[in-house]
Amino acid sequence: MLIVSNWKAYVESKDKAKGLAATAVKLAKGKKHDLVLCVPAPYLGLLSGVSGVALGAQDVSATLGGAATGEVTAGAVASLGATYVIVGHSERRALGEADAVILEKTRHALAHGLTPILCVGERERDEDAQYLKTVRSELSSIFDSLTQKECMEIVVAYEPLWAIGKTADEAITNEDLREMVSYIRKVLGDFLPGKAASRIRVLYGGSAEAANAPTLATDSGIDGFLVGHASADPVSYGALVKALS
Ligand code: PGA
Repeated sequence: MLIVSNWKAYVESKDKAKGLAATAVKLAKGKKHDLVLCVPAPYLGLLSGVSGVALGAQDVSATLGGAATGEVTAGAVASLGATYVIVGHSERRALGEADAVILEKTRHALAHGLTPILCVGERERDEDAQYLKTVRSELSSIFDSLTQKECMEIVVAYEPLWAIGKTADEAITNEDLREMVSYIRKVLGDFLPGKAASRIRVLYGGSAEAANAPTLATDSGIDGFLVGHASADPVSYGALVKALS
């Protein structure tokens, strides 16, 4: 499985960053899973020497460079050895990031050889299943605008907002996840030939913890997890990775 840590802003010291990275390096030695650490941008340089785990950023600029104070470009991220970047996380969308901007970010990431982890997901589940339309539209705005080759580089992370930052008990059920993953693959099939659509990696994120990850991984069709709070503590992170082994 692909297990992506999203440290968010939980990690505010280089000692904590180094400690978490050391935990990941140890866990990766078993080689059972591919581990990716999406860290706050300043730690990309600090951790660029780690072996056995991949590094990623949590966001990337929609600009290409030049006079853009404060922006962290895909080129800068890639130059530090990162190979992944999260795009369209709901916590960025909440700040006003629209699909068009997410598409720009995705294009820049791809142009610099970074694998975009595209987050999609509904705010709430309604009885009329409008939430499916949200997911379809977030996927379509990106996949409809890229070549098949570019599409194949994208990792989709399904992250329902209502399940983020809670506890394992409040996360999605295995059955609902299985349904959503098959819906996502159906939507991807509108833009890609069937076999190609089934090869796109789909992750789940939203209160994935050691207590629920094994159940969620069973027969749901996911290829891994995007893990927030449980990835920012060495004990809960270690427990989650080991629970999946
Ligand atoms: P969480 O966050 O695991 O803390 O719910 C997941 C995410 O937002 O990526």
